[in-house]
This record gives sequence, C-alpha cells and structure tokens, in this order.
Amino acid sequence: MQANIEMVKALLDPGRKVVVLTGAGVSAESGVPTFRGQDGLWKTHRAEDLARPDAFAARPELVWEFYNWRRTLVAGCEPGPAHLALAAMERLIPNFLLITQNVDGLHGQAGSRKLVEMHGSLWQVRCTVCTHAREDRSALPPLPECPVCGHLLRPGVVWFGEPLTPGVLRLAVAQLRDVDVFLSVGTSGLVQPAASFHQLARDHGAVTVEINAEPTPSTGLMDFALHGPAGVILPEMVPGTAS
Ligand code: NAD
Ligand code: ZN
Repeated sequence: MQANIEMVKALLDPGRKVVVLTGAGVSAESGVPTFRGQDGLWKTHRAEDLARPDAFAARPELVWEFYNWRRTLVAGCEPGPAHLALAAMERLIPNFLLITQNVDGLHGQAGSRKLVEMHGSLWQVRCTVCTHAREDRSALPPLPECPVCGHLLRPGVVWFGEPLTPGVLRLAVAQLRDVDVFLSVGTSGLVQPAASFHQLARDHGAVTVEINAEPTPSTGLMDFALHGPAGVILPEMVPGTAS
C-alpha cells in the first residue's frame, strides 16, 4: 500500500534487523545515469547491450570505451543525500546491511561500511585469463593489458547474464532469511536475482518497503511503497540527515 514517511520511519527501530537493497536510482541524483529510458543511451548504444559478456567478446574496444566513459563520469560525481542517509542509518541500527547493485562506489564514499557491492565495482579491473585483479582508479588505455600474463583486462563488474561472485548470493540469501525490515530503493526490479530479494524477505516474515521515483513491477508485492526521489525520502527517515 501507499505509505507515508512516518509509517516507514517507525519501522526503523534500532532493535530491528534492517536490510536495504539499492539500485541505480540512488545515484541518479548524483548525476550517474540509470540504465532505463533515455538515460540508458550512450552514443547510439543501449547501456544494457554493452554491459554483456557477448558484447565484450565481439567488440572489446567499444565496451572498454563505454566503461572508460563511465569511470570518468562517476569520478566527477559525489555521494548524494540518499547515500549519506543510508550511511547514517547504518550508524543508528546495529543490525544493518546494505546490498547494492550499483558499481559506482558512491555508498562506500558516503561512509557505508556494512556494504555488499553485489555487481562489483567500476574501480576494479581483472584479467580475462589469469587471476590478476586489482583496484584501479587511473585513466586506462583503450584495451588495457594484464601485467602478469599480457592478456586483456576487463571491468570488475558483473554483466547481464553472468553469475554473481561466489559467496555473494549465499550471503544475501542468508541475511534475507533473517530480517525484520527490507527496504528496496531506486531499483527497477527487473534485474535478477536482486528482483526476488523482497519476496524472499517477505516469505521469511519481513516487512517490505519500496522507495522509488515511480511504481515498479514489484510495487504491488510490497507491504509499503513510497514514491518520490530517494534523496528526499531517505533523509526524512533518518534523524539529523534532512536538509
Ligand atoms: P535501473 O536503471 O533498472 O532502474 C533505476 C530505477 O531507479 C528505476 O526504477 C527508476 O524509477 C528509479 N529512480 C530513478 N531516479 C530515482 C530517484 N531519484 N529516486 C528513487 N528512484 C529513482 O537500475 P537497477 O534496478 O539498479 O538495475 C540496473 C543494473 O545496472 C544494475 O544491475 C546495476 O548494477 C547497473 N547500473 C548501475 C549504475 C550505478 O552503479 N550507479 C547505474 C546504472 C546501471
Ligand atoms: Zn592475466
């Protein structure tokens, strides 16, 4: 049902276990484009068509150009009020976990520490052949090479159609089986497995809440829904973070 902020605020008791799932919507207000609508276009390509292993196999230079563009864009972005409110929520609620689908690193930059970046990070690169992986915020060449074996490096993100890093899904599922309040913020609910997290939490007794700029396919399955910008709604829920 449609909720008001006070109803959801009342759920966020420090004695409860809270899991928050975020998506591209929390970073939209920081200037990071989402993958939906007009925002999801880079040159003439849909972002979703480039963030795929088959696209990288066919045109690695194009996919790297897209990722180098995204890295430069995100390097110029700052955490917004939604990121800061979630970092503050973590400090107020001892039993808290933030699971993000975002790869921009802005939650960590805002101070979130109980954080799982389930789709990896734009700031990680790894080898397509050997086990070399590193954090790297530098400007990369068009086709960066592995310093160990000389093969092509790839962005350290999980692309559409790829499995999550082993352990990440296990951890998320274990947390969702034992949670009191589940908040889904700024995610379209179209990308699995994250799109099923609210159902898992609800099946195990959690109260579920959606916060999104607009209704999503999950809205009707949530206990509560708040529609509006995450950067306005979240700070109003966390004492001391609204401007
Ligand atoms: P999405 O692009 O599919 O959907 C974004 C959602 O955010 C939409 O439902 C939209 O209504 C909502 N939204 C937009 N602005 C908002 C605001 N100000 N406040 C609240 N909600 C707002 O994003 P997704 O569900 O995260 O899935 C896309 C996939 O692409 C993810 O797997 C993610 O890894 C990746 N991605 C990441 C980033 C990033 O790291 N910032 C950006 C784009 C895509
Ligand atoms: Zn290598």
